[in-house]
Amino acid sequence: MKTSIATVSISGDLKEKLQAIAKAGFDGVEIFENDFLAFDESPRQVGQMVRDHGLEITLFQPFRDFEGMPEPLRSRTFDRAERKFDLMQEMGTDLVLVCSNVSSVALGGIDRAAADFFELGERAAKRGLRVGYEALAWGRHIHDHRDAWEIVRRADHPNIGLILDSFHTLSRKIDVNSIRSIPKEKIFIIQLADAPLIDMDLLYWSRHFRNMPGEGDLPVLEFMKAVAATGYDGYLSLEIFNDQFRGGSPTAIAVDGRRSLVYLGDQVRRAGNSSLTLPPMPARAEVDGIAFIEFTVDEAETSVLSDRLRTLGFRHVGHHKSKRVDVFRQGDINLVVNTDPDGFAGASYALHGQSAYAMGLWVDDAEAAVARAVALGAERFGQPLDPGEIEMPAVRGVGGGVLYLLDRKSALARIWEIEFDPVDDDTNLRPVGLTGIDHVAQTMKYEELLTWLLFYTAILNAHKTPMVDIIDPAGVVRSQVVENEPGTLRITLNGAENRNTLAGHFIAETFGSGIQHLAFATDNIFAAAAALSDNGFATLVISPNYYDDLEARFGLEPAFTDRLKAHNILYDRDDHGEYFQLYSPTYGEGFFFEIVQRSGYRGYGAANAIFRIAALRRHLRPIGLPKL
Ligand code: MG
Ligand code: MG
Repeated sequence: MKTSIATVSISGDLKEKLQAIAKAGFDGVEIFENDFLAFDESPRQVGQMVRDHGLEITLFQPFRDFEGMPEPLRSRTFDRAERKFDLMQEMGTDLVLVCSNVSSVALGGIDRAAADFFELGERAAKRGLRVGYEALAWGRHIHDHRDAWEIVRRADHPNIGLILDSFHTLSRKIDVNSIRSIPKEKIFIIQLADAPLIDMDLLYWSRHFRNMPGEGDLPVLEFMKAVAATGYDGYLSLEIFNDQFRGGSPTAIAVDGRRSLVYLGDQVRRAGNSSLTLPPMPARAEVDGIAFIEFTVDEAETSVLSDRLRTLGFRHVGHHKSKRVDVFRQGDINLVVNTDPDGFAGASYALHGQSAYAMGLWVDDAEAAVARAVALGAERFGQPLDPGEIEMPAVRGVGGGVLYLLDRKSALARIWEIEFDPVDDDTNLRPVGLTGIDHVAQTMKYEELLTWLLFYTAILNAHKTPMVDIIDPAGVVRSQVVENEPGTLRITLNGAENRNTLAGHFIAETFGSGIQHLAFATDNIFAAAAALSDNGFATLVISPNYYDDLEARFGLEPAFTDRLKAHNILYDRDDHGEYFQLYSPTYGEGFFFEIVQRSGYRGYGAANAIFRIAALRRHLRPIGLPKL
């Protein structure tokens, strides 16, 4: 499987784009005419630059408004084509993309268009060039790949072929199975893009909202399966017009792009088609729980954090045999507190201050999970081991954190016994009845959200939920969840659009993205709340107005509402069940804990978020959030 990406997909000048594309491991690049025109080097130098990066120019584009023109425009169009051919030959590429005519003067007519393409094919053949025809979803007469294919078929010229673009086909809901009957040698290249489902003008949707396969809602996999059925084994080329990507980091976007293609290729291969050759990699890892969350803290802060964890019902159960690392446990929850000044934890502390910088997941096969992550472009993470330590497979997460992978079939299953000495915690505080981690909430800049989403869903057997807008009084936070069927993995991703939101403040002040809150599960939130109160744990105070509204909204019994109110418990309900939530105040720059009880409920209390955020802001305001 050969991968390519159009220069229009990422930010920077042509030089920066090519560097990022080569570094991400692509084989080829589509040169967009505007990227070339805005650059100062000659076509020959640009071609050399591409080849110096070890890349191939997969095509030059776009050539617009070609077919079906009346004279004298028709003759001029052919002259224009000859000049593009000159440029392509200097640059060193043999394929040009001709997109279907959008001109109001285009005459239409399948045979007229076929005749035009035959003549263009003759001219291209003299120079050893090829022409690929693509139906734009908004083309004047041709806006369906089946009609474009009919034109190519009737042109019947070896130098004329078809270009299929998943966006144009899928945005118009054209049956992808119509691709299965196209001969593979007539498909000159495949362009791929996904997009979120938004009901809007096709052109605007295409030019601003495309994203990488797997990041949006279009059935790109079904499209690719149909392509693979033809036996096509040429380039898969990303053509992504996205405002955020054009403003984002070229390196990060290029890595996402390559990851999306490899992941897509792997899915096609697993669906039983072998025309795509790509390196074998293990299947997506099955997650059966969160093994631990690790905090990096300063020695001076440990007693504050330890005391806080004890009031939450945790017990100090282990001390690392060779490092300043401690484990606190309750139910299936393991919280690791790392105060070791050396190693990655220390470095992470120096950069971000106190934070939950690492997460360990229980998977079916830890080494296989890491192998898959690395095949998808993730960076393997490791640190020198002390005698007696076991190596825990890990990769760098997207936001600079670490994702550890553990399985129950290796020594990793006994990590706590092997590496830690037991500690007898003589606290007299009450257990709170927390049983596990319901979800981990990570916060990042909005433009990075898709990167995180793709990272998790490509490596782990999990799916994404639709995006939800969380209204913070200071702006919008976009939230999307990565979760698996059994509910053993739930990660909420919160993309902050500006730094005045609670989420944005957290990113700005911790100098990066990361875990902003941990939600612990309990089977009885009222008992948990009572125990917390006995332990002196102050929960976040929710406005009384919330409860009046809640009672009316759900028709709750006043006595029940009073119980919720007495403990600052938030409530929600969906078709599947009930949800109860309570929160800690924020610590430091915005980290907090949540305790939830869910009975069948599938969401995350989005309707309550505005009340929670308002309460957290009241708490945080003295130390920095702007007053609204
Ligand atoms: Mg295209
Ligand atoms: Mg939550």
